Amino acid sequence: MIMGRLGILRGKEDNLVKDLKESTLSFEKLGKKYGVSRQAIHFFCKKQGIKRLLKPRGHQTEECHLCQKLIQISRRPYSEFISIHTILKETGASKAEYSHHLRILRDRGLVSQRFGKFRSKKLEEAYAIYFTERLQVHTIGRKFGLKNFHAIIRQHRALGYDVPPSRYGRFGCGKN
Ligand SMILES: [Zn+2]
Repeated sequence: MIMGRLGILRGKEDNLVKDLKESTLSFEKLGKKYGVSRQAIHFFCKKQGIKRLLKPRGHQTEECHLCQKLIQISRRPYSEFISIHTILKETGASKAEYSHHLRILRDRGLVSQRFGKFRSKKLEEAYAIYFTERLQVHTIGRKFGLKNFHAIIRQHRALGYDVPPSRYGRFGCGKN
């Protein structure tokens, strides 16, 4: 037998049986732990007829209603400017649930790194107008009581947000 030949496992079989039954450590890792090959562990496990535990599969985003809803929202135009407030309202999620599922989606690259971080409901509304209407930036700012919407836009651009040129300026009839 491999074990007998190697002689390393003698006296440690009980521990190995316990590890095989109660942990999800790979044969390779157990081999390292017990100083034998991966194959030796595999052989031992088979010989003892041990049924191993399945590794937890992790969060299934395709089957998660909240994750799917978040992905949907993130695909809208300018979704990085949708506030957390709005997303919570649309999904009905609690803040804790939201952060948990969003982190999974970000880690797996299923939403952009900036999606779901926007805090200001007021700025969300100001940007919604900025993206769709031909108004001067300061006119929009004034409407929302924002002293310097220009500077805010500059800051967001510097942070990597994709802010298009003002629709007002784009048609060549303003100084934006
Ligand atoms: Zn989820």
